[in-house]
Amino acid sequence: METLEKILSEHSFFKDLSPAHNAIICGCAANTVFPKGEFLFREGEAADKFYVIRQGKVLVETHVPHRGPVAIQSREAGEVLGWSWLVPPYRWHFDARAVETTRAIVFDGKCLRERFASDHELGYEVMRRFVTVSPNGSTPRACSSWMYMAITKTNAAAESPALLDPMLGQPYRIGRVVKETYDTFTLELAPTEEGNGFAFLPGQFNMLYVYGVGEVPISISGDPAKPRALIHTTRAVGSVTKQMQKLRKGDVIGVRGPYGTAWPVEEAKGRDVVVVAGGIGLAPLRPALYHLLKHRKRYGKVILLYGARTPDDVLYPKMLAQWGARPEIEVLTTVDRGMGQWTGNVGVVTTLVPKVTFDAANCLAMACGPEVMMRFTALALSKRGLADEQIYVSMERNMKCGIGLCGHCQTGSLFVCKDGPVFRLDRVKPLFTQREI
Ligand SMILES: Cc1cc2nc3c(=O)[nH]c(=O)nc-3n(C[C@H](O)[C@H](O)[C@H](O)COP(=O)(O)OP(=O)(O)OC[C@H]3O[C@@H](n4cnc5c(N)ncnc54)[C@H](O)[C@@H]3O)c2cc1C
Repeated sequence: METLEKILSEHSFFKDLSPAHNAIICGCAANTVFPKGEFLFREGEAADKFYVIRQGKVLVETHVPHRGPVAIQSREAGEVLGWSWLVPPYRWHFDARAVETTRAIVFDGKCLRERFASDHELGYEVMRRFVTVSPNGSTPRACSSWMYMAITKTNAAAESPALLDPMLGQPYRIGRVVKETYDTFTLELAPTEEGNGFAFLPGQFNMLYVYGVGEVPISISGDPAKPRALIHTTRAVGSVTKQMQKLRKGDVIGVRGPYGTAWPVEEAKGRDVVVVAGGIGLAPLRPALYHLLKHRKRYGKVILLYGARTPDDVLYPKMLAQWGARPEIEVLTTVDRGMGQWTGNVGVVTTLVPKVTFDAANCLAMACGPEVMMRFTALALSKRGLADEQIYVSMERNMKCGIGLCGHCQTGSLFVCKDGPVFRLDRVKPLFTQREI
């Protein structure tokens, strides 16, 4: 029978450790078996173990809101799984699930960390192995950007059709381009393959890839009840969005998603709803407004307060005028600076809050716009009696993967892409004062 000492001394990850170190590691190790379907670890749980897979197969999965698990990596015989036990706060960032009966050696990370404290050389030797990039990609590295790169190599998606490769955008053809303002445009997309359309929840976003240029998160701004028309409204601000603005009908763009959390249209049932939008912030809120109007009887008063910098910056002016004429919704628009033919309200959007009446005790508010605007909107709403728990905001942070792997949009324990972008205000209030990376 093979002893653990023998197995480890022959394993590529542990070989060349001194016999004394090998013995210490074996003292913190044991054989284990996971039946098919069992989790080796779950996201958020204390991470105090790692594994060498001996037989079988494990999928590492992340949870995408409203979509469920997405496989980001598979680990098979001979490979090492898990590094979170090495890095405070010692919590798993992902789930790991056996997709077939899996035999493994489990290592007690707590036991090893204690040994490292008294034997620094052992600590160094193990740490070195975890941070080394091996040519065959089988060695885990203690860095989430590695996880991000590893996704492109995963064969998990191919083996489980339900789990699409999360980093692979699908090609969509541009069916229509609408110039909204001098710097803002709307793309209506259709999949290049026949499909059932693109189901999404109001507030969710897609990662849009301009081929050869780059990928950016853009909220879906169409009607969730009409999933065949996939609509995004974008302001051209930088390298990707300015190239996106040059795309024309018939061009192809990459789409992956939908990602992120949704506006609380279910929680809002039976309540008044105050929607406050600033500038391009009306685009991520439009699907929620379509939903509220489609299911109008379920809600109390529906109020839209919209502010833009100048009359030329007002987004969807026709839609605002049409909705403003309807009794089901109260629409007030304002501009920071009135110019030309403008005869409407002048002042920042928060000046509209005292102009409307709603039942503060039975009301939800949804706000989207620049962070400073959302901060002052929250103050104005709180003066009208709304608690932070009644206010939802959509946060913007630079993001790359969109599914909680790369850490670009992470602040503390929150990933804006995965825990948001729509948050209840009390969860993210401190972020309003922090600069993004
Ligand atoms: C969840 C989410 C939904 C979004 N929805 C929309 C939308 O519906 N319509 C829309 O026009 N934009 C939206 N954005 C913002 C959009 O992603 C950025 O404008 C875009 O990434 C800019 O990329 P770029 O390469 O064109 O600009 P860059 O060249 O990267 O940067 C140009 C300027 O914009 C700033 N910037 C870049 N990215 C962001 C960001 N994410 N947040 C704040 N400032 C940024 C940079 O600091 C720089 O000043 C959304 C962002 C997020 C996170």
